[in-house]
Amino acid sequence: MAKRLSQRPVRRALITGIAGQDGAYLARLLLQRGYEVYGTTRQAAAQEPWRLEALGIVGKVKLSALDLADARGVEELIAEVRPHEVYNLAGLSQVSRSFGEPVETGNVDALGVSRLLEAVRLRAPEARYYQASSSEMYGRAGEIPQRESTAFHPVSPYAVAKLYAHWITVTYRDAYGLHASSGILFNHESPLRGLEFVTRKITDGLARIRLGLQERLELGNLAARRDWGYAEDYVLGMWLMLQQERADDYVLATGRAHSVQDFVDLAAAALGFDLAWEGEGTGARAFDRRSGRQVVAVSPRLYRPLDIDEVRGDPGKARRQLGWQAEVKFETLVEILAQADLRRLKQAA
Ligand code: GDP
Repeated sequence: MAKRLSQRPVRRALITGIAGQDGAYLARLLLQRGYEVYGTTRQAAAQEPWRLEALGIVGKVKLSALDLADARGVEELIAEVRPHEVYNLAGLSQVSRSFGEPVETGNVDALGVSRLLEAVRLRAPEARYYQASSSEMYGRAGEIPQRESTAFHPVSPYAVAKLYAHWITVTYRDAYGLHASSGILFNHESPLRGLEFVTRKITDGLARIRLGLQERLELGNLAARRDWGYAEDYVLGMWLMLQQERADDYVLATGRAHSVQDFVDLAAAALGFDLAWEGEGTGARAFDRRSGRQVVAVSPRLYRPLDIDEVRGDPGKARRQLGWQAEVKFETLVEILAQADLRRLKQAA
């Protein structure tokens, strides 16, 4: 007997920045849950949505081009789609690049959020809104681990722009009663993470060295400590926030921090190296005991004008109120990234 179709009307979700790591995983999750998924990218036609292709969902989402600098375009899209849920994942996402493009970063990551919230208020006030906030907003915060109540102290143009976005989201919730939530996400990685982030840079670099495609991996500050989780866990947290009766702000994190050097050690082991370190700071280097070759070098060029020593979040509120936790542990995360890069590079060879 044919299964009766559910009477529930299809829910429409709009994801800005759908071609990014989180956008792609979130799109897949929403499709699996029966949503009609609309997504925006900045250069829809020009850019190959390779992450959507990798997840096999490129034909299943409705893509359009949108620049958050274009207020009219934003309003028109919201009026046209009339989404039930809006996930704002668009924006420049790199801390180091934001020092070189501070004005563009502010225009998109900060003011772009005002444009989007204003469009939602005017054209889809019943929609639930998710703002992709970032642990970078804590910067040199006075306490570790950082939670929702921790005072922010941003230290990059990216973080300052994200802080504006966070507070304008809270303001629209309080002033207009929008169901607007802000997810303060700590670093979350995956094989779909861009190569400019240190995690993928490490696993891609070491996998290349393993396959004889690259001589050496050059890194900056090895002592930096980050709270690294797995991106698929984090997009589930975003969705959960919008299923709550009341909008709120939540930290999503693992609660554990590891150094860049820890990441290198585990990734190297996963790829069959046996690393021995020598020297410290900018003089640090790592050799592979098996081959005797130097595989890691430190370059002062890759240090940032301002860096954060340790970032670690307290996911307690998300656990209590959303029933969310980071399922994938650090060791597994490194293994996933290392094996995915090795596989991909072998296939490409
Ligand atoms: P972020 O925490 O969002 O800035 O994520 P990243 O992956 O870009 O950087 C994490 C940390 O790794 C920062 O403290 C960087 O200073 C440090 N790091 C050390 N070497 C590198 C490198 O070669 N590239 C990047 N992106 N970060 C590095």
